[in-house]
This record gives sequence, C-alpha cells and structure tokens, in this order.
Amino acid sequence: MHPRVQREKKIVGLMVNKYCEEIHNNSSLCKDCNDLLEYTEKRLLSCPYIKNKPVCSKCDIHCYNKKQKDRIKEVMQTIGPKMIYTNTLDTLWYFYYKFIHKHQKIT
Ligand SMILES: [Zn+2]
Repeated sequence: MHPRVQREKKIVGLMVNKYCEEIHNNSSLCKDCNDLLEYTEKRLLSCPYIKNKPVCSKCDIHCYNKKQKDRIKEVMQTIGPKMIYTNTLDTLWYFYYKFIHKHQKIT
C-alpha cells in the first residue's frame, strides 16, 4: 500500500472513530460511521493518482458521492478542530484544511 494511502486512511479512521464516540456516544463504530469509513477507504484505494499527488484536494476527480461527501465533511468540521487541538500533527492540520477547502469549493 502506498504510504500516502496509509497516512490518509489512518487520519480518516481517527476522525471517524472520535466522531462516533463523541457525537453518537458509541464506544465502537456504529453502522453508519463504519460504512462511511469503508467508503473513504475504498475511494482512497481506487484513486488512480494516489502515487503522484500530495493531497486529494489537488485532484480533478471528485470521487466522493454527495451523501458520503457531506458526511465526511461534517465529521471533519466537527472533529477536525478538536483533534488539531489535542494533536500537534502537521499532517492532520494540512489534510483537514485541504479537504474542507476543496469540498467547499465544489458545492
Ligand atoms: Zn457513529
């Protein structure tokens, strides 16, 4: 697996887990959150440009469908700032802003 896929997969996984824990009050992922996570992983793995681009925001292909896009956006907007506050991960910060920026632009 490409390192970038692993990194993004890890970050999305952290966010969705935390979202479900805080917003849905679950100690393990509920079905909706699990579906969302599986969806994002599939999209990452099927991305044809994964080896060449730094982040999904630079991508011309808007590969998320509307429903899942809205959900991952909500997860990131809700959990992103909390995680940035407790994690000093530059990658997380970067990923979060790029992602939100991109998806605001196309809606
Ligand atoms: Zn949930």
